[in-house]
Amino acid sequence: MTATARRANGTGALLNVEHLTKHYPIRKGVFSRVSGQVHAVDDVSFWVEEGETLGLVGESGCGKSTTGKAVLRLTDVTSGAISWRGQRIDALPAREMRAHRRELQAVFQDPYSSLNPRMRAEDIVAEPIRNFEDRSPAEIRERVASLFERVGLRADQMVKYPYEFSGGQRQRLGIARALAPNPRLIVCDEPVSALDVSVQAQVINLLMDLQDELGLSYLFIAHDLAVVEHISHRVAVMYLGKIVEITDKRTLFANPQHPYTEALLSAVPLPDPKAARKRIILAGDVPSPVNPPAGCRFHTRCPVAQERCRIEAPAMRLTAPGHLVACHLRDGEPVEAP
Ligand code: ADP
Ligand code: MG
Repeated sequence: MTATARRANGTGALLNVEHLTKHYPIRKGVFSRVSGQVHAVDDVSFWVEEGETLGLVGESGCGKSTTGKAVLRLTDVTSGAISWRGQRIDALPAREMRAHRRELQAVFQDPYSSLNPRMRAEDIVAEPIRNFEDRSPAEIRERVASLFERVGLRADQMVKYPYEFSGGQRQRLGIARALAPNPRLIVCDEPVSALDVSVQAQVINLLMDLQDELGLSYLFIAHDLAVVEHISHRVAVMYLGKIVEITDKRTLFANPQHPYTEALLSAVPLPDPKAARKRIILAGDVPSPVNPPAGCRFHTRCPVAQERCRIEAPAMRLTAPGHLVACHLRDGEPVEAP
């Protein structure tokens, strides 16, 4: 059993997120009065170890990107704690955050909009090196060239602009830029979701090779369980701003405990077509995060919901070592913060 599977909380982990909550105010009218709140992320806790990939999955709008942005300090949090190497970073002033920023990098879904289209590829990758390190132009050039090679691009492509690359190459460029300041953790927000399936596998394999080589950690966000299966060590499943289940990958795929995870999993094709899973079709749409349902947020679509689920929000329970589930129908020790 890994250290991570034994843990019941993330104390001492590289990244530890506790009770993270992010509400976006909804403003209306000429005076921009706050008329409500989008409950994008509500009381979410998880951790990421050194060298580990935590997959974060759930349908569009469930709060995955907001969680990633909070970790990167690209958005302020409403409440909760984000600790990096044991130090709270959620409210650090910009100047003190700078030291950590180098170590926390991101790769986004659409490199075309996240990479400056008017910059040459070389400068896109050189920029973070110039920002964080005091190096000569020749040293920077050499480092950029070696990063190009490392991500499977050629040095002669350094003079090109983002539009001159294919989708997969552009994502390699995005990865080279993220690697440039020598990060320890990369938040990968749907990094392959816009790519063809054949290219997806290449980019995922590249990320896994880089992890082996550099000991990187990833928070790997995707709306599709099949995408996180290969790369993740553990997986957290989100529904409407909450984590409903979190455990190691093998257990999640072999023995899912939350009805929502079961439904998501039933849509993942099996390698053997004759062994098709029974597809669970969830009724209705995801409710609005402006007025999330009372009780268990999943009860309006849950095929096994009971009266209690409509009234009482389920606690996160430890159903097995390292396996946390928020469902009234599962037994286990309630845990404070997973
Ligand atoms: P995901 O990445 O899982 O698709 P997001 O974190 O992007 O989900 O969004 C979660 C919820 O927060 C959605 O309802 C989305 O519309 C809302 N949201 C995201 N960003 C903002 C924002 N800047 N202002 C208001 N609402 C937002
Ligand atoms: Mg998103």
